Amino acid sequence: MIAAMKHCSSCGEHNEVRVPEGEDRERHVCSACGTIHYRNPKMVVGCIVQDGGRVLLCRRAIEPRRGFWTIPAGFMELGESATAGAARETLEEALARVQIVAPYAHFDIPHIGQAYLIYRAQLLAGEFGPGPESLEVQLLEPDAIPWQQLAFTAVRYALELFVEDLQNQRFRHHTGMVVRKDGRFALEDHVGLPIGNAE
Ligand SMILES: [Zn+2]
Repeated sequence: MIAAMKHCSSCGEHNEVRVPEGEDRERHVCSACGTIHYRNPKMVVGCIVQDGGRVLLCRRAIEPRRGFWTIPAGFMELGESATAGAARETLEEALARVQIVAPYAHFDIPHIGQAYLIYRAQLLAGEFGPGPESLEVQLLEPDAIPWQQLAFTAVRYALELFVEDLQNQRFRHHTGMVVRKDGRFALEDHVGLPIGNAE
């Protein structure tokens, strides 16, 4: 869930939630100085790193979802591009240098205010290992992906589609929206467009 923003970041007084004049939705507005605090989704950037038919996965050393597996990914920083951020996260979490190959998935997750931008990438130099945020890092055959122990739903959808694309020897670029209804997740509005041949 998206947390409330109780205090004004300009003056420290309390915010109220109301629709500012001329706008169409509620915002956090400072009750003292009137500053409107616009809040927008955060970008999570990451890589599905390939080496032959195998994919690089990290087991998380930090919360949330410590002990669970994921692809290298994290919040995009100010001042960097999405591809640079995805490569940076891969170096930090998996000590792996990669070449970005193609965009792979863009999944919006409106209920937590995030958007995932996932790239296919090629492992360079064949070197990897656990960074400070990982317990272990492994190159896994698709059959060995721990589906029941993946940390994040968006990553699970990306890996499921990746394995499907691998089997079909045709990579696509996927877009969609991860929603949560009645405690269950679903990938809605999924579109997968071909984007080159599997290598
Ligand atoms: Zn204020």
